[in-house]
Parts: sequence; structure tokens; C-alpha cells
Amino acid sequence: MKPVIGVTPDFNAGDRKEWGGHEPTYFLRARYVRAIEELGGIPLILPLVAGPASRRRLLERVDGLLLTGSGPDLPPRLYGERQRYPFPLVSERRANFELDLVHHARMKDIPLLGICGGMQTVNVACGGSLFQDLPSQVPDVLPHRQKSKAIHVSHAVDVAPGSLLRTIVKKATMMVNSSHHQSVKTVAPTLIASAVAPDGVIEAVESPRHRFLLGIQWHPEFLFERHPLHRRLFQALLRAAGRRRD
Ligand code: MN
Repeated sequence: MKPVIGVTPDFNAGDRKEWGGHEPTYFLRARYVRAIEELGGIPLILPLVAGPASRRRLLERVDGLLLTGSGPDLPPRLYGERQRYPFPLVSERRANFELDLVHHARMKDIPLLGICGGMQTVNVACGGSLFQDLPSQVPDVLPHRQKSKAIHVSHAVDVAPGSLLRTIVKKATMMVNSSHHQSVKTVAPTLIASAVAPDGVIEAVESPRHRFLLGIQWHPEFLFERHPLHRRLFQALLRAAGRRRD
């Protein structure tokens, strides 16, 4: 039986110009869904229900979770800072739902992969913090918003020996795409950094205490078709989710 993977959508509460304008609208790049389906899972796009009991029941129906990225960023107050630079914020509803999802996943040991903003959510949910704007806050930082299309890779990362990520990709160094202006600043106490860019920017975090709690700063959903290394990230999530169900 194929594992069911809950996928979080983005949400416009009605205050964004794109994606529905003033009409509250869910939206999600289809390639997240396609990656899960094509690699042998059943994607289930999750509604951002508010009640704790509804969320618990929803999560009883999934074997794994995929936290997707988004354009807007987490409100810095979630990691104890005031917003120091202008950037759009993710809807309150989505932030709250995804933070809660990470807490549930940790409690129940549900395999979870966080992509880009999803990785940042994992780190913040576990008590870590973020750089609000890499170019403003980190001297000599590489361009992490690549000019080329996301289907192309643009910078290297070193993968930590002994990490879950290392067992998945089986490489000490790999090339990734990059489309972010924020990144992990303080790694949450229960997590470790498992990939780092040459400029020191943290590109992956994971929990050594869980079977599969991994966040990556890049976008494998743009790479999985042409790059086996990036395909393996989804395959590893699906395998972990399948094992949990059995
Ligand atoms: Mn990057």
C-alpha cells in the first residue's frame, strides 16, 4: 500500500495581490504533489483547519508530512525578534497550522520533510531562530536567490557525516538550487545542522532523535526529475512513511 503524505498548501487570507486577491484562496505548486505521486506515494493536500481535535484527526490519516515553501516569511516574533526588514509575512493561519504540525510530528514520530520555508518552520517550531535577511545580515554571503531557473543548481553544500541526510544522498558534497533570502540562524536545541553552504549558511537541519525529521533549504521539487540525488529525498520520506504505516 502506498503511503499517504499530507502536503501543506499556501494560503492567501485575502490580503495578497496574487493568488485570489481579496478572496481567501488556497494555492500550491503542483510539482510538490507530482513528486509525491510519481515517486510512489499518495499526496493529500491538507486544509488549514483550526481546532486541535480536527488537526489530530486529520493527522491520523497520514503516514508522512511535506511542509512546502512559500514566498512570504514567518513573523519574526515567533523566534523572539522584531521585524527588521520589509518582507511579506505568511498568513497567521498557515504559520500556526504548520508549527502545530511539526509539534505533532515530533510527538508521534511522523516522518516529515520541510522544504525551504518548511525547513525554517521546523527550526522555529523546535525553538531555533532565523536570519531575517541574509544579504543585510551576513557579510560575504553567496547569492542565495539564484538568477537561473530553479531547475538548475547554483551552489554547493557540505553534508554532515553520520547525518540522516548523508545516509540518504551518500555524498559529502552536493549541488543545490537556491531561492531564499532567509536561513537558519540559531539551530534549535534538539536539531543539528546537516548541510552547510561554503559561506556558512545552514542549508539543512534534522532531528537525531526522530526516524525522519528533516528540513532542507533548497527545492528538490524542481530537481527530482533530472537529478537522482534530489529524487532520493522524496523517496526516503516515502520509505520512512511506508515503514511507519506497516
Ligand atoms: Mn542556498
